[in-house]
Amino acid sequence: MRPEALFDYFADIERLPGIGKRNRQAIERLAGARTRDLLFHLPSGLVDRRYRPKVQEAAPGSIATLEVEVVEHRPAHNKRAPYKVICRDDTGELTLVFFHARADYLRKMLPEGETRLISGKIEHFQGSAQITHPDYMVPPESADELPLLETVYPLTAGLSGKVLRKAISAALDTVPDLPEWQLPDVVKREGWPDFLSAVRHLHNPSGPETLAPKSPERRRLAADELLATQLALAIVRDRTQKKRGRALRGKGHIRAHIIGSIPYSLTGDQEKALEEIITDLESGRAMLRLMQGDVGSGKTIVALLVMAAAVEAGVQAAMLAPTEILANQHLETIAPLAEKAGLRVAKLTGRTKGKPRKELLAALAAGEIDILVGTHAIIQDDVAFNDLGLAIIDEQHRFGVQQRLALAAKATAGIDVLGMTATPIPRTLTLTAYGDMDVSRIQEKPPGRQPVDTRVVSLDRIGEVANGIARAVQAGQRAYWVCPLVEESEKLDLAAAEDRFRAFQQMLGPSVGLVHGKMKGPEKDAVMEKFQTGEISVLVSTTVIEVGVNVPEATIMVIEHAERFGLAQLHQLRGRVGRGAGKSSCILLRSNEIGEVARARLKTMRESEDGFLIAEEDLKLRGGGEILGTKQSGLPEFKMVDFLEHADLIELARDDARLIVNKDPELRSERGQALRHLLYLFERDEGVRLMQSG
Ligand code: ADP
Ligand code: MG
Repeated sequence: MRPEALFDYFADIERLPGIGKRNRQAIERLAGARTRDLLFHLPSGLVDRRYRPKVQEAAPGSIATLEVEVVEHRPAHNKRAPYKVICRDDTGELTLVFFHARADYLRKMLPEGETRLISGKIEHFQGSAQITHPDYMVPPESADELPLLETVYPLTAGLSGKVLRKAISAALDTVPDLPEWQLPDVVKREGWPDFLSAVRHLHNPSGPETLAPKSPERRRLAADELLATQLALAIVRDRTQKKRGRALRGKGHIRAHIIGSIPYSLTGDQEKALEEIITDLESGRAMLRLMQGDVGSGKTIVALLVMAAAVEAGVQAAMLAPTEILANQHLETIAPLAEKAGLRVAKLTGRTKGKPRKELLAALAAGEIDILVGTHAIIQDDVAFNDLGLAIIDEQHRFGVQQRLALAAKATAGIDVLGMTATPIPRTLTLTAYGDMDVSRIQEKPPGRQPVDTRVVSLDRIGEVANGIARAVQAGQRAYWVCPLVEESEKLDLAAAEDRFRAFQQMLGPSVGLVHGKMKGPEKDAVMEKFQTGEISVLVSTTVIEVGVNVPEATIMVIEHAERFGLAQLHQLRGRVGRGAGKSSCILLRSNEIGEVARARLKTMRESEDGFLIAEEDLKLRGGGEILGTKQSGLPEFKMVDFLEHADLIELARDDARLIVNKDPELRSERGQALRHLLYLFERDEGVRLMQSG
C-alpha cells in the first residue's frame, strides 16, 4: 500500500485550481496527469528579468524590465503596420510595438498617463529603443505578477508557460513534506536540502546556478532517483537469491557434442561468456547474470551450451522470449543442434492449446523435456516442471520483475537466471540499469561478417532511393523501409508509414508489407513471417521492427529522417541487415536542416558498427538527459539524473542500497519506512510489491 503521505503526490492534477480539461490533457501528454508528474517536470532554463536599466542605457538584445510612463497610443494605419505605444522615462523614449493588435485590450493594459512596468527584449530601431510584444506589462503596484526570474519549461502544443507555471505553483501548495530517506551524514556532507525544498527551489530558482546540474538541489534529486532505482534492483536481487542456489556441475559431454557439430568455432568473447556463466552454474550461489551482445554476436549458441550444461547436471532449462516469432527463431536454431546431442526440446507459446498442450505439460512435469522454449505462456500457473534449474530470459527488459519472479517460482530448489539483451549499454550505465547484476559482454563479431555499407543521403533524393529499392527487390533482394518518427504523434507516424506503403505497392504490387505499433501481436507476427519466407520483399514499418528478428535474406535498410533517431536506435535498426552472406547496405535519409549533434550521430553511424562504441558515443552526444531512447533500451526512465554530471552519485546509491538490503531487507526501520516513500514516489515500487508478495 502506498504510504498515506504520498496521496497528494499521486492525486490527479484535475484537482488543482485553474486546470481545465484541455490543460489537463496537454499536461498529461507533456509530463503526466498526477501531481508528482508535474512536480518532476523541471524547468529547462530561466529568463532573467532582473536587469532594470533606464530607457537610455538599456542594452539592445538584452531582456530588461523598465518602469515607464505611457504617453500616447498610435494605432496602425493599415492592416500590415504595427500598433505602437509610446512610453518614456526621464532619460528617453521607449516604443512598444504590436502586430495584429487588439486596440481595446491595449488601451486597457496601457492607459495614457499611467506608469507601467514593462519587461521584454530591447531592440533598437532607427536609433530609439523599442520592445516588440512585451512579455509583461503591469502597474507598479502589481510588480509581484512580474517574475524577475522566470522559469522556462519544455512545453507542448496547446499549453502556455504561464498555465504550466501556475499549475506547478498550485501543485507545490498541495503536497506535504516527506520523511528524509537519504543518510543524514551524506545530506550534511553534500549540503543537500530536503526533497520537497529541492523541488520547490528548482521551480523557483534564485538564479541559473540553481538549475545547473551541480547545484545541491539537482544533485539531491538525482541521488534520490538513483537510490530508488538501485534499491529496487537490490531488493529484487535479494529476493531472487534468497532461494539458495545449487551447484550445477555437468560432465561436459553434451556441450562437447554440440560444439563438435557446429560448423564454426566459438569466438573469444563467446568462450569467455560461456566460461563465466558455467562458473556461476557450478558455484552454490544463485546466478543472476546478463549476457549483453549486439544482434548477431552469437548469444543463442552460448545460451544453448549453457542449457546443455544445466541438463548435464540433471535439471531442466527454460528459455523465455518476448514474442512468438522470437521463440520460434530460437527454437529453429536450438532444436536441431540440441536434438542431435540427445536433448529433448519443446516449445510452449500462447498458440499451444488443447491436447498437445496437455501432453506437453505432462511430459514437462515428468521430466521428459530437457529444454522448454517459449513465450509468456511458460509462466502460466498450470505449467509445472519436474526440476527447473536454469531460466534464460531473452530481451530481459521486456519482462517485468513479477514475470521474472513467477518463472523463478517454478523452481523448487533454487534457480540460476541468465538474462540476454541485444542493447549495448555503456559501461558507466550498466550499474544504473542492472544494479548488481553480473554482466558478460560479447563484443567481438563472428568472423566472416560482411560489414554493412552505410551511407547518409539527403532526403531530396528519396525518389531515387525508392526506385533503387524497387530495382533491387526485382532482382531478388529484401528491404526494410523505416518511416520517420514524428514526435508526440503516433497517428502521424502511422500516416507516414501508410503513405510509403501505398507508394511501394503501386511500384511493386502485393510484395509489400506494413507493420506498425498499433497492430496486435499475432497480426504483426503474420506480416513478419511473410517477410521471413519472402512472400513480402519490402517491409515498411514505423520503428516497431522486433529486436532480434532474423531475416538473413534482408540486405537493405532504409531509414527516413534518420536524424530524428537516437544512435542506439539507428544501430539496432541497422542490425537487421548484414546477417546473411549477401552484401548489405544501410541508407540513412536525412533532412537538410539538421543540427550539429544529429550530424555527429550520423557520422558515427557511418564510421562504426561496434554497438558498445556507439552507445558510449551516444551518451557523450546526448550529454546525459534522455539516454539510449530509454524505452527501447529497457533502462528505467530517469528524469533527474544527468549521467555525465552525476556519475559519482551512481556508486554512492549502489553502495547505500546494498547496505540497506543487508541491514533492513523488509524496510521496517524508520529509515526503511522513509525509503518506501522514495520507491513509490519514483515509481520503482516493484521492490515494495515484492516485499509484500513474499
Ligand atoms: P544473437 O542471438 O546474438 O543475435 P545469433 O546467436 O542469432 O546472434 O547468431 C547469429 C548468427 O551467427 C547465427 O547464424 C549463428 O549460427 C552464427 N554464429 C554464432 N557464433 C558464431 C561463430 N563463432 N562463428 C561463426 N558464426 C557464428
Ligand atoms: Mg538472438
